[in-house]
Amino acid sequence: MLRKLLSLLAENEKGSAVVLVSLMMLCLLGFAALVTDFGLYCLSRQQLVNAVDAAALAGAGELSPGGSGDETAARSCAEQYALKNVADLTGLAVSVFTTPSGLKVVQVNAVKKVDFILARLLGYTSGEVQAAASAAVAGITSCRGVAPLLIARQDFKFGERYTLKYGDPASPGNFGALSLGGTGADIYRHNLIYGYSGRVSVGDMVTTEPGNMSGPTQAIDERLARCTDNCTVDHYEPGCPKILIIPVYDPHQVLKGRSQVRIEGFAAFLVDRVDCAKDEIQGYFISTTVEGDADFSRPPDTGVYAVRLLQ
Ligand SMILES: [Zn+2]
Repeated sequence: MLRKLLSLLAENEKGSAVVLVSLMMLCLLGFAALVTDFGLYCLSRQQLVNAVDAAALAGAGELSPGGSGDETAARSCAEQYALKNVADLTGLAVSVFTTPSGLKVVQVNAVKKVDFILARLLGYTSGEVQAAASAAVAGITSCRGVAPLLIARQDFKFGERYTLKYGDPASPGNFGALSLGGTGADIYRHNLIYGYSGRVSVGDMVTTEPGNMSGPTQAIDERLARCTDNCTVDHYEPGCPKILIIPVYDPHQVLKGRSQVRIEGFAAFLVDRVDCAKDEIQGYFISTTVEGDADFSRPPDTGVYAVRLLQ
């Protein structure tokens, strides 16, 4: 068969050269179209995936403890995000639904048309890319940088001014001291200024630091000076030194002297004033995101949360 073809080509060299060149051109065009238009397709898809992820996260942020909590607002926030980040969407659907376990999920689906450049010559004018993402607010289960303090679980009212006093943490309005990563005033003071560098998780048993740790409020005062954004309760940067991430415990646990206490969660307190003479700090419990592990089955009831994509 091959021999026959070769002899045929040899008989009519001129004609076969034209056919061969044409075939090669077609092949080249095919490859060029594959490279450019497939590249274009992949790029468009990645851009759409990123935009849809960001839209779902932004929408879910509205359902965080500090957000509006309004499903309509969450939907419109996600829509605006998607439309802002990707031009010429041919389809966009945003829905908010509640799972049987009570988790509120923001789901975004988007479609975009991709106009091909070279593949047109082969008869393919356009393609379609699709992306979908779901996001929800998850409670933080572990994080680094917590203050070596302890506060009883209570109904933290965001935006309401509190005065917290250093003392027995079982009394409402008080905070106590924890020894994290070692005992002693120096470690305690360092942890108070910079946050404990180790990881603290829900369920961890930690040790209380009994006695007066020589003015913990002074160390908190040092934190305030490190805020460079003039953060206030109305506008604060997540991770600002003014924000203390305070481990929360169940006050049914009895503490006596140096005791082991189980961490139940984390609260965020934005300090705006320190009274060293009275060992008092004044400020607000706030809702904020922190870097750390999060669990969708854990409601962010204490205000410290993460917004995550559902896999
Ligand atoms: Zn700040």
